[in-house]
Amino acid sequence: MNTIDPWSSSIIDYNKLFKDFGIKKMEIKDDKLRENRLFSRGIIFGHRDFYKWWDDFKSGNTVSILTGMMPSGPFHLGHKMVIDQLVWYQKLGIPITFAIADIEARTVRKMGPERVKEITVSYLSNAFALGLDPGQDIYLQSNRSNSYYKFADLLSSKMTFSEIEAIYGELSPGKVISAFVQASDILHKQLPEYMGKHRVLVPVGPDQDPHIRLARDLADRIGFVKPSSTYHIFARGLDGEKMSSSKPNSYISLDEPVDVMKKKVSNALTGGRNTLEEQKELGGQPEKCIIFELYKYHFEESDEKLEERKRMCKAGEIMCGECKKELIKRMSSWLRTHQSNVKKFKGKAEKFVDDNMEYPF
Ligand code: SF4
Repeated sequence: MNTIDPWSSSIIDYNKLFKDFGIKKMEIKDDKLRENRLFSRGIIFGHRDFYKWWDDFKSGNTVSILTGMMPSGPFHLGHKMVIDQLVWYQKLGIPITFAIADIEARTVRKMGPERVKEITVSYLSNAFALGLDPGQDIYLQSNRSNSYYKFADLLSSKMTFSEIEAIYGELSPGKVISAFVQASDILHKQLPEYMGKHRVLVPVGPDQDPHIRLARDLADRIGFVKPSSTYHIFARGLDGEKMSSSKPNSYISLDEPVDVMKKKVSNALTGGRNTLEEQKELGGQPEKCIIFELYKYHFEESDEKLEERKRMCKAGEIMCGECKKELIKRMSSWLRTHQSNVKKFKGKAEKFVDDNMEYPF
């Protein structure tokens, strides 16, 4: 079946997304977007109706942003990429809604309550340390308003089982419930008791597109505004393969001790050649290189300097050892500062969890 499984985090064939699923390539039509490296560097590569949302924002109409995270593993650089987007929109004065998909973690990942609490504290304190304002609308799927749950129930009456299967493929009972809860997440801000009908933008990874498609179909059927979405590239694992929480060496978590991070970066896949001589002669291959990706996604602010690194790599003017050393220096200093900021926000995150998270079992 030609579907994407939003619960498998599998590597996505990006061309298929455009060809088979109708996602549009992101073109930069406004210079303001170039100020955000995620747009200017093509990291946000696709969208559905993004410019309808952007035009509404530019015209002063009500718009909002909504995204969420399932608290199911360490908070890593892939999560940072999502929070970086929220913080950029927040700076433009756009209201942010941030959902913690704890019900999904319990029902689909079958995680115990204590682990979900612990990871939620970590996600929130990391998100706050990265600049997400704790005063934004942050909620748990397990503790929202009555109208949100009523809405999820009613939405389920608007779809047949085969329509849901056509979007998601094979489904378990937990996944069906989770799909309608996600649809309620994406659409409920348009309920009168929240912000009323308006255009909502949902920045997500491409694996989450089935939830967007379901919500857009449902919006049509109930007379709501279809949500817009953007899709960012999945960061690859440090070995160049799929990043997985079951393979700690494949990712850098933001609470990683600096020494562990150093080892991981030292062992990461590069686009370097077999010998220094070969590299000087043929140049490196930055498009294959995880180290270059880390600069591009997180640790090089300047587009000019990034281009210069690429040029030097290709020309064989810089060797991988030097390139890694510089990255480790930047990451060590960044991680130390970030981790001390996380500590400052831990109390706030713990209070949020204590006040809001309670399960019968
Ligand atoms: S020189 Fe740097 S960018 Fe080029 S392949 Fe080596 S590590 Fe990657």
